[in-house]
Amino acid sequence: MQDTELTTIPQKMLNIVLFGPPGAGKGTQSQKLVDAFNLVHLSTGDIFRFNIKNNTELGQLAQSYMDKGNLVPDEVTINMLEAEVAKYPDAKGFIFDGFPRTTNQAVALDKYLESKGTSISLMLALQVDEEELIQRLLLRGKDSGRADDTDESIIRNRINVYNEQTAVAADYYNQQGKFHSIHGVGSIEEIFDRLSSVIVEKGR
Ligand code: ADP
Repeated sequence: MQDTELTTIPQKMLNIVLFGPPGAGKGTQSQKLVDAFNLVHLSTGDIFRFNIKNNTELGQLAQSYMDKGNLVPDEVTINMLEAEVAKYPDAKGFIFDGFPRTTNQAVALDKYLESKGTSISLMLALQVDEEELIQRLLLRGKDSGRADDTDESIIRNRINVYNEQTAVAADYYNQQGKFHSIHGVGSIEEIFDRLSSVIVEKGR
């Protein structure tokens, strides 16, 4: 085969759902994974916060839910996420951080990616116990300026919402053989190495 033919073979996208409760370290690890694997990072929390800061209609709607630690309704979140993905037609792959947070969102994401000729490669789920999560979030709240990180009752509500509405989304990917559990306590580098190993081994 000639070189020119090789370059025309389309490479499969690497689309990762980085999963885990609030405070599990998804944002921190996303930054590192984006660089290592040349991916686009889409954090629904960051996108909502950007909209709140800029006082958009979406931001105004999302804020009432976020301030209480509840989920923004699926339809709103799904439409927003799809519009974001569409902004990166040349992406080699995506890290979905904070999405999907319900089984509904997971189904919608699958349908959308299928319409684009691609799919989720892996779900990587960071496991961190509840008391450690609360400590991390309270610490983050001291300088992040995030209202939802300063009040322990709101933090506990977010963790409850995760346990009651979000954790089940892992079953959805487990049924597809895409779920991988990652121990989320240790140094940032150690956790990054655990995530990277699974991606290298299973991701392509
Ligand atoms: P964390 O993972 O630390 O809870 P995020 O920044 O991911 O924080 O999300 C903050 C808030 O944004 C959530 O508590 C929720 O209100 C809203 N949000 C983010 N992603 C979603 C989603 N996929 N569906 C519904 N609401 C979401």
